[in-house]
Amino acid sequence: MLMIGLTGGIGSGKSVAARRLAELGAVIVDSDRIAREVVAPGTDGLREIVAVFGDRVLDADGALDRPALAAVVFGDDAARARLEAITHPRVRARSAQLVAEAPADAIVVNDVPLLVEVGLAATYHLVIVVEAELSTRAARLVRDRAMTPEQADQRIRAQTSDERRRAAADVVLRNDGELSDLHVAIDLLWRDRLVPYERNLRQRRA
Ligand code: ATP
Repeated sequence: MLMIGLTGGIGSGKSVAARRLAELGAVIVDSDRIAREVVAPGTDGLREIVAVFGDRVLDADGALDRPALAAVVFGDDAARARLEAITHPRVRARSAQLVAEAPADAIVVNDVPLLVEVGLAATYHLVIVVEAELSTRAARLVRDRAMTPEQADQRIRAQTSDERRRAAADVVLRNDGELSDLHVAIDLLWRDRLVPYERNLRQRRA
């Protein structure tokens, strides 16, 4: 099994890269999705959050009101730490479970937006970073995510820099052009590097 960490700044194209890798046969472990699942209605995760932060973080349907929760922890490091003590272990456990369920010869791609910020690079065989110009990323967020240019800018600035991400990268995928260009780069990476790497790992273990 080859374990790959996939990251990149908001709007860089991580999700489209993960989708292409899935089409090629990778098993995708999507941290954002898991983070939503572990606090879905009816979960222990949500119950614990309500026990700590109160009903004010629930919406009218009893689901987590993310903007309300974000407002509660904004600028309050202790509150954020309490929240992360609830969510992070659950995300780790569910991710580990999905990895354990993958076939022995799988190429597993863990899509983690804050991989570099959280200091996870060393836990993967390879770290792939998707990069694009800041202005391109901001334009995508305005076009596809209904953000204002100011919101896009703010979200981009809240994350670590391209330099820090690149320092953690084994592979940098540029995504400034057409989606088809990114797909071609990923197809070549898959064929020439990822598949041989996985095979090598397995042969060494055999
Ligand atoms: P986030 O951190 O928010 O999850 P992301 O890095 O996963 O962002 P994507 O969702 O993959 O980014 O891409 C952001 C938006 O830009 C999407 O709507 C996607 O379809 C679009 N996009 C990505 N790459 C390209 C490209 N090369 N050309 C045109 N649009 C693109």
